[in-house]
Amino acid sequence: MNIKARKILKSIRRRSISTTVDTITHVKTTAPVAALTFDDGPHPNYTPALLNILDQYKAKATFFMVGEAAERHKDLVEKVKAAGHTVGNHSWSHPSFIEIDRKKRQEEVRRTEKALNLNGVRLFRPPHGHQNLASRLDLFRLDYKVICWNVTAQDWLEQTPDEMVNQLIGNIRPGSIILLHDAIYRSRLPKPQFNREPMLEALDITLHKLSQQFDFVTVPDLLQYGRPVYTYWNRSD
Ligand SMILES: [Zn+2]
Repeated sequence: MNIKARKILKSIRRRSISTTVDTITHVKTTAPVAALTFDDGPHPNYTPALLNILDQYKAKATFFMVGEAAERHKDLVEKVKAAGHTVGNHSWSHPSFIEIDRKKRQEEVRRTEKALNLNGVRLFRPPHGHQNLASRLDLFRLDYKVICWNVTAQDWLEQTPDEMVNQLIGNIRPGSIILLHDAIYRSRLPKPQFNREPMLEALDITLHKLSQQFDFVTVPDLLQYGRPVYTYWNRSD
């Protein structure tokens, strides 16, 4: 086998291992695009308020929904989809996937898939960001792309809108995937910030400042702009 063929084979192997065990955190691109993602909803008050803000700036986003909440608010799931956003799977009851077994992980994912009426794209966001090799491989077997992030505003903590705006504006780059929450579902923190008003205010300010400069698109659309960057994501805290 010549050197070129070897190189190609090596790159194919590396890529297929990456897509199996690694996790997408952002996209390598020079295009001025980024993806906002919102976890833990839908929420009867905050999700509609969020939809209004996104609509105002013509921003599209990806909503990683919890199955239990989606089952209770099916109308909101449909509303989010109808507005052109993408819906992804964030498990049924938001457990840490490294603390449950394979059978339970499969149940959590499949049940949510039904509640969300997912067809086509299958994106998963690990609850609490927890993942190990076994849980990652289960998502591969279930035919999901695992999507994490490379920008957060730590909106699960008590913070002012300005503090969150600084983290967002200081870190959003072409290809960024941004983690935010339109609800806080079964948090393990001692003092979770259930009130989403500060996040909504921070988002409004950020979009006001950045939407001339960036197009905010769904994760599947972002993936069309460049090569996804895969990171080995092994996290339990
Ligand atoms: Zn979550």
